[in-house]
Amino acid sequence: MDKTLLIIKPDAVKKNLIGEILKRVVGAGFKIIGMKMLWLNKEQGGKFYEIHRGKDFYDWLVDFISSGPIVVACLSAADAPAKLRGVVGATDPKKAAPDTIRNLYGTSVGENVVHASAPDENPQREIDFFFEAAELHNY
Ligand code: UDP
Ligand code: MG
Repeated sequence: MDKTLLIIKPDAVKKNLIGEILKRVVGAGFKIIGMKMLWLNKEQGGKFYEIHRGKDFYDWLVDFISSGPIVVACLSAADAPAKLRGVVGATDPKKAAPDTIRNLYGTSVGENVVHASAPDENPQREIDFFFEAAELHNY
């Protein structure tokens, strides 16, 4: 089984969508092998999103991801990173396929309710950013 990282972003937490989103993810066949709620500061948010440093939306994104609590979950499934991107949908909710999480709950290209590791951008680095080995569970 492969692993990937899901983040329920501050906009979704504030809208009480944690349960809805987890229900969809589990319903799609993922197993939650680690999970926690935390509130990043700007330094942590900037480090997590450092791949986007220099882009015009970077400062906004760092403010956004540190604007409230988030839920981070490590998910297990066959081909997990690509599979989760399918469940989440395109970055812009207006372009996301019907019934994807971003299509259903996203507000804008920025406030798009979830993060899902990109298959080609080192999902393991993102999992390691939030989880120690002892916080991930085989069951
Ligand atoms: N984002 C934004 N404006 C843009 C592109 C992206 O505010 O024009 C935000 C959005 O929250 C997105 C995140 O930056 O989820 C990371 O961007 P990326 O292109 O990696 O999209 P993702 O991988 O999340 O679909
Ligand atoms: Mg990305």
